[in-house]
Amino acid sequence: MDCIFCKIAKGEIDSAKIWENEDVMAFLDASPDTKGHCLVVPKKHFEDIFDIDREILKKIIVAVQDISVKIKESLGALGVNIASNNKGISGQIVPHFHMHIIPRYEGDGLVMYGPRPEKIKKESLEDLRNIAAQIK
Ligand code: AMP
Ligand code: ZN
Repeated sequence: MDCIFCKIAKGEIDSAKIWENEDVMAFLDASPDTKGHCLVVPKKHFEDIFDIDREILKKIIVAVQDISVKIKESLGALGVNIASNNKGISGQIVPHFHMHIIPRYEGDGLVMYGPRPEKIKKESLEDLRNIAAQIK
């Protein structure tokens, strides 16, 4: 399969690897939003959150925590954003599941989701509960 992250996981394409275990690998994003921006991926191919194996997913989130701690300590980040895009509509470009860890620094100027004037408007609790009922 012609998947760039599968190739990285197999070592067929070079990457700046940070960490790996049997199932999971982390490497620096080639176009970082901030210094230390990295991607945590399963070594096996899963497209997105909708098809990834749950046991592997657990290992990924634990790795995300460990790597976040390492990044905070080693690069002096004050915090991190953790994100995952799933399906094209969300901005997923590489269809191999991955979690972004984006270190945050004082004055880095990064705006994660763009200006959101709609945040000023608050939904009523009734409307929110209707949506919650649909999801439940
Ligand atoms: P997404 O929009 O969540 O699918 O993001 C994919 C990410 O993969 C982007 O931030 C890219 O910069 C990153 N990326 C793509 N190709 C490579 C690569 N060969 N090595 C490292 N990062 C990559
Ligand atoms: Zn893949």
